Order: sequence, then C-alpha cells, then structure tokens
Amino acid sequence: RVVVGTKVDQNHVNWVTAYNMLTGIRFTVSRTNAKLDRPLTDADFEAKHKFSFDITGNELTPSAKYDFKFKDYAPWVFRHLRAKFKLDPADYLMSLTSKYILSELGSPGKSGSFFYFSRDYKYIIKTIHHAEHKFLRKILKEYYAHVEANPNTLLSQFYGLHRVKIPYGRKIHFVVMNNLFPPHRDIHQTFDLKGSTVGRDFKEENLEKNPRATLKDLNWLRRNLHLEFGPEKKRMFIEQMRRDVELMQRLKIMDYSMLVGIHDLKKGNQENLRDKTLQVFQPGGDSPADDPDKGPERGMLMRTPSKLESARKARELRQIIKQEKPIPMGQSSSRMLDEMEENMTKKEFTFYSDDGGFRATHEDNTPGDEIFFLSIIDCLTHYGTIKKLEHVWKGLSHDKRLISPVAPEPYGERFVKFIEGITMSPEEAAREAESNPLS
Ligand code: ATP
Ligand code: CA
Ligand code: CA
Repeated sequence: RVVVGTKVDQNHVNWVTAYNMLTGIRFTVSRTNAKLDRPLTDADFEAKHKFSFDITGNELTPSAKYDFKFKDYAPWVFRHLRAKFKLDPADYLMSLTSKYILSELGSPGKSGSFFYFSRDYKYIIKTIHHAEHKFLRKILKEYYAHVEANPNTLLSQFYGLHRVKIPYGRKIHFVVMNNLFPPHRDIHQTFDLKGSTVGRDFKEENLEKNPRATLKDLNWLRRNLHLEFGPEKKRMFIEQMRRDVELMQRLKIMDYSMLVGIHDLKKGNQENLRDKTLQVFQPGGDSPADDPDKGPERGMLMRTPSKLESARKARELRQIIKQEKPIPMGQSSSRMLDEMEENMTKKEFTFYSDDGGFRATHEDNTPGDEIFFLSIIDCLTHYGTIKKLEHVWKGLSHDKRLISPVAPEPYGERFVKFIEGITMSPEEAAREAESNPLS
C-alpha cells in the first residue's frame, strides 16, 4: 500500500501559511539576488528585514492574496551559503514558487515541527521552534565559517531563515534546507541514527503498514547493517563527521542524528513512481508519530511536470525574475537545470558525488552495491534550552547513562563511536562476524 501525504492546495488548513511562506521567500530572495554581489560584513549576520504584504500592495511589496507580515533574516549570509552549496539562484526561486508546490509531511514529531517539500522535491521547509530560531541566528557565524572551511560538511544545509505571521496569528519561524534524498532514486531503507538505544526502536510490526518508515538504531543493529565503505572512503567520511561533531560539541548542540538513506542498486528503481507522474515519500520520524496508528500518515504525493512543461515554465520565470516583477501565484514552475547538469554541480561534493550520495566500496576500493545518502540533521537543539529539563525528567525512569539527552560532549562522543563502529567494508564486516559470532 502506498502511503500518500497531503498536497497543500487551497482546501488544506495550512494553505494560507504555505502560500505566505512562498510569497515571502520569492519576494525576499529575488530582492537580495537582484543586487550586485559583495563580501559579507559582520552586520549581515544580525540583519533582519520586515515586510508587510496586503491585497493592494505598496511601494515596497507587491500585492498578495492575503495580509501577512514576513521577516527575512541574514539574507546576504544565506545568499552566500546558497552559493557555497552551489545552488543556482533562479533554480532555487523556481523550486519554491509554483502553484502546487508544497506537500506537507503531516504528523509532526514531538518537536511539533512541520515539514513541507518543494514540488520538485529538492528543498524542505521545516518550521522551527522560536528557541531553535534564536539559536540558529546566534550560531550563524560559526556555521558559516564551518561551511567555508568544510565544503564537504555532512551537516544540514541551511538556505534561508524566515518568519511569517498572519494578523492575529502566531509567529511561525522556518528554515529552508536540502532534501537529502534524491527525486530520481528509490530510497529502499531510511534510518535516523543517534548512537543511543533507549527509545531508539521502530516497532518492527508496524513496518508492514508503513514500509517506508524511518527506522532507528536498534533496527539497524538488528539487521546487522553497515555503512559499507572501504578504508579510503571510510577515512574521508569519519574525518568529516568528526569535524562536524566537534562543531556541535563546541556549540553545545545535541539530539542531532545521522540520517541514512540506502539505495540498493540491485533493486534499482522499480518502486519509483515518478515516471507515472507520482512521487511518494515516507520519511517516518523520530518520535511517537512513528506509530502509524497515532495520527495522520507522513508522506506525500506530488505530480511531476513533463520536460516540456518544465522548460516552458523555466523560461517564463527567467523572464519574470529578470524584470523583477512579482511572480503571479498561478505560475507553476520546475527545475531549470536538467538532471545531468545538476549531477555535475553535486559532483564537487565528496559525499554527494555519486548521483547525490556516496557509493559503497569494497576493501579494494571497487564499487559496491549501494548508494548511501548521509547527513547530520536536526542540529538546532541547544543543550541549555530544552534538554536539561528532559534530562532530569527522563533520568527518573531510565538508566542515566543510556538515555539519549546527555550533555553535548558525551553525546558527540557516543555518536561518533557508534557511526564509526558501523562503518566498514563488507569484507571487514564478514571478518568481524566470524571472529565474534555471538554479537
Ligand atoms: P524530533 O525533534 O522529534 O526528532 P523534528 O521535528 O526536529 O523531530 P527531524 O529530526 O529534523 O524532525 O526530522 C524528522 C524526520 O524527517 C527525519 O528522521 C527524516 O526522516 C526527515 N528529514 C529531516 N530532515 C531531512 C532532510 N534534510 N532530508 C530528508 N529527510 C529529512
Ligand atoms: Ca530528530
Ligand atoms: Ca528536533
């Protein structure tokens, strides 16, 4: 059974929010992109700009369908970040500006975040808590410096930080980030790994109902899986992860995980429904929402435009962007670069160079049967804010050393140790199994 998520159309409860988010992004991003590039200043990291949209429009903002306020944070920093991550500016705008654009990933985790996917599946909008928002602003400079010094970072790629508010509504903060998983490949298995065991088990019996669920540490261990990299790739991967985790520790971040998607080349793409104009995504999660009985299904269904349609819309949008006219919401849009071109730009990033991922290798460095998609996600939880409370609370009922909210230093150590421990070539894994048959 295919699990279908919610397309955000006019009848969706969050249509107005989604519409306002995209209208705001479109306006602020084109506004910044229209200016000549320049080096960043300290002030750019603190910058915030507020815009009011209404039905009539004014000298600053074009007219919009609804009244809302939009705040754009550090636009120049994010413009530079997008450039560092090699996004094409026009492509970014187009992906986030079409009519049926978004699909909502229904049931939020315990964090209460909502996830929206751009229609072409390249970008994710995640609503974040006010504390996460403040924290991202606080660490933005260090995040930027880290990306600059580590072009191959495994950390989530942040492309924008914004806030939207409708009259009498609450303030909704959100980030735009990369979707780790490629639109054109089936991900046969997904795991969210923290290196902890408590609460890190997706009930296997629910897998039948929810075959694309995101599994966790215990499910991984039960399957005796490995990140199958030979010595050379393993060294590169572990080294980058260590650097990324060092940053997390320094910034006192915790609760992040290694998101792992596995594409099995032997299985290929038979499950991929894209050619039938449908795309299905089932990210599962990291919280009670894992149980498919406990709420709306997570997942989504999208219509993919034909090549011709894409090309036409791309042309139209190019013209509109050039003339800096507001783009009418009725415009649908799609990718401008074709897949080949896209793969070229990603080629420069070590861990995303094999069709968006990192191909398994054997001990002798010959290619293996899987492509791994790897990223450290959910990295805006500051130890000081929420987790201290949870630590005390969970500590009452569990063994203190095993619970997942430990301090950032040991959290990072445990994380690295776990991931390092499961990273080995199939040959090494076989030897290990032989010498240690009971484990
Ligand atoms: P919680 O705090 O309860 O763990 P959250 O709302 O902060 O949840 P995340 O942990 O960031 O959510 O993500 C939840 C799930 O969404 C992940 O396990 C993964 O399946 C999917 N997901 C998150 N980020 C990405 C991404 N960049 N690309 C693809 N999938 C993602
Ligand atoms: Ca998480
Ligand atoms: Ca979270």
